[in-house]
Amino acid sequence: MTKQERLDQIKADILEQNICPDLAKEATNMVFGAGNPDADIVFIGEAPGKNEDLTGEPFIGSTGKFLDELFASVNLERKDIYITSIVKYRPPKNRDPKPEEKEQSWPFLLAQLAVIEPKLIVTLGRHSTNCFLPGVQISTVHGHAEQIKIIVNNKEFTWTILPLFHPSAALYNGTTRKVIIQDFQLVRTTINKIKK
Ligand code: URA
Repeated sequence: MTKQERLDQIKADILEQNICPDLAKEATNMVFGAGNPDADIVFIGEAPGKNEDLTGEPFIGSTGKFLDELFASVNLERKDIYITSIVKYRPPKNRDPKPEEKEQSWPFLLAQLAVIEPKLIVTLGRHSTNCFLPGVQISTVHGHAEQIKIIVNNKEFTWTILPLFHPSAALYNGTTRKVIIQDFQLVRTTINKIKK
């Protein structure tokens, strides 16, 4: 099977296993993830919002537009990367995802990562960051890359995690915006270091 076929199978598994049933019932679309299955870098957000729910595409609202600017600032385009979120269905009124929703979604996210085998995982915001680095504060660890080991289907993976603030936090806060713009340069320097 190609990587894309394996990803399609994971999406089918999510539907078949009916995870997050309360969210799935209300959702227009599952937002599974999009981009290049051979990407070196995977970006992981929190959960889809309204526009993402309506289209099934990740990060396409105002937050997504800002994220595209950040990608451009380090010479990346969507076709170069893969982008997804921890939770695959929109929580009502964009509330925070519940712990059980994150737990139910986690094995499928790991399965996606085990297919793509990225060199760098950029976690956007505290929900995504804490799934990989439990207990840390995003305000402390943003911009600090860390290696973790995770076993997925009996295979051990060593992944570099780079936590960044969620771009939605920057939309209405000029200070956070400056920090994210600055931190984003670390995406480029970290991947360059890893590939050297
Ligand atoms: N925020 C997220 O975390 N994910 C999306 O897909 C859109 C907004």
